[in-house]
This record gives sequence, C-alpha cells and structure tokens, in this order.
Amino acid sequence: MDYDFTTAANNYEDAMIADLKALVAIDSERDTDKATTEAPLGPGPAAAIKHALAMAQRDGFTTKNVENVAGRIELGSGDDILGVLGHVDVVPAGEGWETDPFTPVIKDGKMYGRGTADDKGPTIAAYYALKILRDLNVPLNKRVHMILGSDEESEWYGMDRYMATEENPTFGFSPDAEFPIINGEKGIASFLISQKRVAPKQAATTMTSFDAGIRPNMVPVSATAKLTGTIPADLADQLQTFAMTNDVTADLTANGSETVITLVGQGAHASTPAIGTNAGTYLAAFLNASSLDLDPAATAYLATITKYLHRDTTGTLLGINYADRKMGELTASPDIFKFSQDGKQTVLINVRYPQGTSADAIRDQIETAIGVDLVDVTIDGHAQEPHYVPESDPLVQTLLDVYTEHTGLPGHEMIIGGGTYGRILDRGVAFGAQMPGAPDIMHLPNEYIKIEDVVRAAAIYADAIYRLAK
Ligand code: ZN
Ligand code: ZN
Repeated sequence: MDYDFTTAANNYEDAMIADLKALVAIDSERDTDKATTEAPLGPGPAAAIKHALAMAQRDGFTTKNVENVAGRIELGSGDDILGVLGHVDVVPAGEGWETDPFTPVIKDGKMYGRGTADDKGPTIAAYYALKILRDLNVPLNKRVHMILGSDEESEWYGMDRYMATEENPTFGFSPDAEFPIINGEKGIASFLISQKRVAPKQAATTMTSFDAGIRPNMVPVSATAKLTGTIPADLADQLQTFAMTNDVTADLTANGSETVITLVGQGAHASTPAIGTNAGTYLAAFLNASSLDLDPAATAYLATITKYLHRDTTGTLLGINYADRKMGELTASPDIFKFSQDGKQTVLINVRYPQGTSADAIRDQIETAIGVDLVDVTIDGHAQEPHYVPESDPLVQTLLDVYTEHTGLPGHEMIIGGGTYGRILDRGVAFGAQMPGAPDIMHLPNEYIKIEDVVRAAAIYADAIYRLAK
C-alpha cells in the first residue's frame, strides 16, 4: 500500500512552524558553568530536552528522559530498533544577527533563528514524520526510537549517556547534515606535539610567549608573539612586507620593554583547513625567517612549525598524508599553539583521516618526522575511527531511493571530514535536511531554514522510516 506522505506533511505545516518556533526560542547552548544535578549540561540543554519530550507527550507518544541530557520518543513495535538521532542544543548565537537569534522570525518563506537549520528544524521534521506515520496507522514491524542529544555541538555527553544506559538502535540515520546522504565520515583525532627542553644559550631576543587558536577544531584566526630584548629597527617593515606577500594582516606594538606582534589570517573549520589561512603557522614562519636572534627554545619551536606545519593542510610535510579511493585525503590542521619559556611549548594538530591508516600510526609518524629527541607526541583525548556504511547497504539504498523519488534529484554517496551522530551506529548515516547546493548557514549569524524544506523533509523522513521499519 502506498501512502501520501506529502499531503500529510503539508497538512501539518502550521503545527510544525509553531513547534519549531517554541523550540528555537530556548537558548540551548551547552553551559556546564551553570550545571546542576538537574541540568548536567546547563539549563538550556535540559530545558530543550524537557520541552521536546513534553511536545511528544502532548501528542500521546511514549517518551523517556535520560538524566535531562538525552531523550527518546517511541513509535511502533518489533525486535529491531530504527534510530533517528537528532539534537536540540545549539552553538552560541555569536555576533552579526539582524534579528534576535532566539525570537524566530519568518520572512520570505524562511524561519530565522539559532538552531533553525542545525538541528531543531530537521529534528521537528523528523518528529512530525513519526506523527504522520501514527496518524495514518502505518503498520511498522520495528520499533522506531527518535533519540535526542543535547550537546552534539561539543562533547556528545548526552548521546554517550543514552547509548551507555539504553537499548541501542540496530541501525538508523541522523537528520543533521545534508541530502542526498552522508554515509562516510573520516576518523578524527588530535595530536599534542610537546617540545622537549632545549638547552639555554645567550641570545639577543627572547620570545616570552606565542599563542594562537582557541578550539581544537578551528583553524586559528589570530596569533600573538611577545618578545623582549633587542628588536631590529626594521622588524616592523619586515613584518609588513611579509604580511603583504602572504595576504595576511599584522601589527607590531612596543609595550615598554615588550614587543607584541599579532597576525590575523582566516578562520575555517578544522575539517576543511585549506579554506583558512592559519595565523599560527604564518606568524611562526615570519619570526623564523626574520633577522631576529632568538633564544634556542623559541628558535626550535618556530623552526618545527615552519618546517612541518606551514602551508600544508594534508600532512605532507609530516609524512602523514594519505588518501583512500573512497574517503579521499587526510587533512591536518594545527589549531592550538602555546609557548612560554617556563611552561608549555606545544602545538595541537587536528587530523581527519580516511580508512587505511590509524591514529596510532599517525602519532608514530609525527614523532619520527620531527624527531624523538625534539618532541613528544600524544593522542589528545579520544580518537574517533573512520566510519563508512557501503553504498550497497539497504539502509543507504533505501534512503537514496526515497530522496530521489521526493525531489527528482540524483542520489549518490558523500563522505565528509566532520562528525555526525550517524557514526554512533555501525549502520548509521546522516540524511538531510539541507538540500544540495544550498548555502551552508549552520553555525553562522542569521541561520535560517526554508519552511518548504521542513515540510518536505517531514514527508521524506516519514517515507524513509516507513520503508526501513515495515
Ligand atoms: Zn548539528
Ligand atoms: Zn552544528
């Protein structure tokens, strides 16, 4: 039997808009500074989880709240579980909004607000898919668990708690990326390069500090070095020449006995470092090539960065470059630089790697390339393995079929360097809701979602769940 999911979704347009507005109005940025036992990830994430579950209870669904950090909405019965994994948290609103980010506004068929596209709009669309299936009395032979996380934008604590304490889905998809599908995600690991102590030696200039980068997954926008001692009279000129040649901006100021050099490049996400201009490596390269007579620790630190990390986003200089026919090239992005004379002398590199290599092999190679007598290299935090669900898997085939039938557009596999909830399940992918070719407005000011895309996504998700769970 065929169902008219499109008409059913269209009938719910007003209800979807109302529910999405209410969810967007909750500022659900993770804020553990305000954590309590009732709200382990801060008040916003807990409020968003409670709100979403209350919405489902209003409509008569069975729900489960997992410690106010994750939630579940249930439909259907059977042995297997189809998981639909969304998130109700948001990245910080940031600057540059034309409207209030938490007062959703509809203009020209688009709803503006933080989280409208990532991921509250797609999550509401997926929720309405469950509602449509129930309204139409569509028989399902599997359980459908819509699972909501509340800190996807940071640590995934909520989803990890859910997977540790609840029965896990057999397979599933996350409505938190783009169509046609994301069925592969590169491995993600950060490596901390720590410089070993360098024997002191008399030098004209001391670099007292070098800092760049604030997040392990962002290319640093700006970098700052502080110098004391002799400063060549033409250093400011050398800096401006370097800045002009390299298309960056830089500034030198004398602050009493201290000289501060700041360089500004171009930010980018660590999964696409080639788009950015890494302020950290550019400032190091400038200082390394300048006429400064720097102290030995600074000299070694800057030389390492220049030789192994500068103007290279594929790890070629380190010898960790690798490409897989399916997943493409490894990317390497040095994202946090910390140097002081008596403290840390480190660089944190974020690497996105295809299948065929491993975090351990990459660590070994970085250490070998730079030299064990110069540096220690450790894997920082938890490395995530590459994730790939073959295009031939019925999950991928079904989702692509549904997508093509509803949009008339060709389906094809896509592999990204980012990480979605899709990778939590062995047979997990990301599926929508952004349309191909649409501008990527996630995480940016004036984030929006087209109302027609929310409605269409609800129909697509209903059809997808129907075919996967029947
Ligand atoms: Zn998201
Ligand atoms: Zn996001």
